[in-house]
Amino acid sequence: MTKKVTKIGVLTSGGDAPGMNAAVRAVVRTGIYHGLEVYGVMRGYSGMIDDDIFRMESRSVANIIQRGGTILKTARSKEFNDAEGRKKAYDNLKKRGIDGLVVVGGDGSFRGAQRFSNEYDIPCIGIPGTIDKDIAGSDFTIGFDTAVNTAIEAIDKIRDTADAHDRLFIVEVMGRDAGYIALHSGIATGAENIFIPETKTDIEELVSSLMEKEKRSKLVNLVVVAEGDEFGANEIAKVVKERMPTLDARVCILGHIQRGGSPSCIDRVIASRMGYHAVECLMVGRHNVMVGILNNKMNYIPLDKAVKAKQRINPEWMKIVKILAS
Ligand code: ADP
Repeated sequence: MTKKVTKIGVLTSGGDAPGMNAAVRAVVRTGIYHGLEVYGVMRGYSGMIDDDIFRMESRSVANIIQRGGTILKTARSKEFNDAEGRKKAYDNLKKRGIDGLVVVGGDGSFRGAQRFSNEYDIPCIGIPGTIDKDIAGSDFTIGFDTAVNTAIEAIDKIRDTADAHDRLFIVEVMGRDAGYIALHSGIATGAENIFIPETKTDIEELVSSLMEKEKRSKLVNLVVVAEGDEFGANEIAKVVKERMPTLDARVCILGHIQRGGSPSCIDRVIASRMGYHAVECLMVGRHNVMVGILNNKMNYIPLDKAVKAKQRINPEWMKIVKILAS
């Protein structure tokens, strides 16, 4: 028989993502609805180790659903990689009687949660909070939609100036291991080429296609590159400039604006649904699963599977990019 949870903790960990606050709000209010005591843990696993843990009430999460970032703050904790750090974290939860944990974060945070719950008797439920969408078992991760919309807004503006000057713009967007932000923002802004970590980057092919376009007097071109691409925007620009010295090529690295801002409707709604279901999971005795949404239905996948099995890029998407950019 599974033990009924009575006190739960919630934390946000790893890279921040817009919509994390909406998830925290949902966890807190669903927990209180079920009569649980809910505790907020500051700065991810660091707060668990440093005992920065506080009781949350319904009002603690008032007026945050629309705010980017995370009121619980986030951090990367080296100490949590060590058995000693995890023991300290456990002791701090245990002394308050916390018997369930909700972790909002990315694959690293899930690896940590998996390890922690293998060692100790505290079930962990993961909520995918990452702008990169580099997690399996969910069509959505919290923050991706907002980030990609921020990227689109910026790229649209870049396109205006590229158009005025007949320039090639190479725009680098976020995505260390996954090219989803590049793929979506590139398709949505009509990019000529998209370079992502999942596929081979052929700069020679880009140069040939730019030369061919130059012959047709197509001078405004946009290339979107994921930060985790094997070359990156600066290297691609360098090679293109060497091969086509007359081409006016510029690089723009969008950077951290993609992490900030008020979460989109989609991110607020999925965060609310996932937060609600994470608490439901703890109530029915599930443990060490990630709450995802697949085909608009809740999907529960073991934390280690969510981390290991990355989503695959459908090759048809790259074909679509090529055809539509001609
Ligand atoms: P994200 O969750 O966004 O992928 P990170 O990869 O930085 O972010 O992971 C967040 C935190 O999770 C790390 O700082 C560390 O404390 C913890 N973590 C990651 N991997 C492990 C692991 N193998 N064992 C224990 N803790 C881990």
